[in-house]
Amino acid sequence: MPTPSTPRAWDGALFVGGAFVPAENGRTSTVLDKARQEPLGRAGWASPADLDRAAREAAVAGRAWAAADFGVRADVLREAAARLRARAGEFADLIVRETGSIRGKAEYEIAGAVEELHQAAALAGHIRAETLPTRAPGRESVAQRVPLGVVGVITPWNFPLVLAMRVLAPALAVGNAVVLKPSPHTPLSGGLLIADVFAEAGLPAGVLQVVPGGQDSGEALTAHPDIAMVHFTGSSAVGRTIAREAGERLKKVSLELGGNNALIVLDDADLDQAGQIGAWSAFHYQGQTCITAGRHIVQRPVFDAYVADLAARAARITVGDPARDGVGLGPMISAEQRERARKLLAEAVAEGATVVEGGDGDGLFHRPTVVTGVTRDMALWTEEIFAPIAPVLAVDTDAEALAVANDTPYGLVDAVLTSDLARGRRLAAGLGSAMVHINDSTCLDEPQAPFGGLAASGLGGRSGGESNLHEFTQLRWFTVQSTPVHYPY
Ligand code: NAD
Repeated sequence: MPTPSTPRAWDGALFVGGAFVPAENGRTSTVLDKARQEPLGRAGWASPADLDRAAREAAVAGRAWAAADFGVRADVLREAAARLRARAGEFADLIVRETGSIRGKAEYEIAGAVEELHQAAALAGHIRAETLPTRAPGRESVAQRVPLGVVGVITPWNFPLVLAMRVLAPALAVGNAVVLKPSPHTPLSGGLLIADVFAEAGLPAGVLQVVPGGQDSGEALTAHPDIAMVHFTGSSAVGRTIAREAGERLKKVSLELGGNNALIVLDDADLDQAGQIGAWSAFHYQGQTCITAGRHIVQRPVFDAYVADLAARAARITVGDPARDGVGLGPMISAEQRERARKLLAEAVAEGATVVEGGDGDGLFHRPTVVTGVTRDMALWTEEIFAPIAPVLAVDTDAEALAVANDTPYGLVDAVLTSDLARGRRLAAGLGSAMVHINDSTCLDEPQAPFGGLAASGLGGRSGGESNLHEFTQLRWFTVQSTPVHYPY
């Protein structure tokens, strides 16, 4: 059993073999406070040799973990939930600074991660075997659920704690070991501090390995022969690369990818609700969530009123250091992301779009922005922007709203706002996304609900509730013959 770490034992380290250790070549990365652009801490930077050691040791440790009584696994997960809750203040401070998010979002992540651990603890006791009918006399025929082995988990920076926990908690619960590679932007709240919590909770050494690093670590993880499954949350472009690499190695892969989600406002929608829902879905956490509403599709009779309301709400949001009281939006994650958003907005304006509100901002701080005059071929409309920008497009009929919403390679989430629930259900039935919400935001997530995407948003796997059992186990056909058998030879 690893000993609980001393404060900041994780600084500059990897978590391999149940201990915080330096990278084999001593390499570290500096993690920035995103609002202040000041150093916040350091993480180790795993080399391919570190990655190899982590995967091999996880494979060994995972065998004993898989054989352990399910109650042992559940106890560790419950204890991890208690430790995380006890350290909620520390985690919240870190998430605010490491991800550039307001405290409410950090607290949401922590509460979500605690809930994931509780749900996973319950899941540990739900691994059922099913007795199958058989025509063979004397044969007992059973479909067993068994763990996959080592699950490689690759995560993004936007919700680093909860997106890691929603994968590793259920994967561990059903008896897998995990090698986690967090985003280089967020290796602390998305990796090393999670390891610290599990070490405190008594997780046996080697069952969870955390190897911060970049693209090459992710590639090495995908390719490693001891990694049975890769679970990736991130962009569709990288998801495609991982799917190719995993396919080459005939490895199970689960992909939670990007989205360009539609918020449809019908002409009978409650406009105050629509404004609130629209602003939250477009702007919160700087629009940097996979379930952000990136396309606002509004029927013409309410178009002007919706745009005016959205713009008024955007104008009231304070943008700045999210560690300060009263701030509603923090910085974007990086200069690259900020520049990309600026460029796409400038291109749209050059092509005839109008910025109704926002559009400016200093440094990494992008003001919440409302844009009209967009057309369906502008990149601002067709691409996932990942910035607090709400392009709004007018449509006439319900059929047109549906056609515009479905005109995307993505299939993550859509929402419909209407005071006629039957009309909303009809529209919802025609939407091509994996998740649909009537009269609420596109930005919904619950640990017990099936979360995932279709088409360019994922391979169709789901996380949450029962789905986790299927994602992180495989079926084995197991028979026992209790009477002699007779074969021709
Ligand atoms: P990203 O794809 O750039 O990186 C994600 C992770 O993959 C990082 O840890 C990165 O280091 C690693 N990586 C990069 N190249 C790799 C490679 N070739 N092989 C293996 N690993 C590699 O994404 P990001 O910028 O961190 O996150 C934003 C994206 O994530 C957005 O597209 C967003 O929609 C998506 N996302 C999806 C969900 C979901 O549940 N569907 C949730 C959050 C974010």
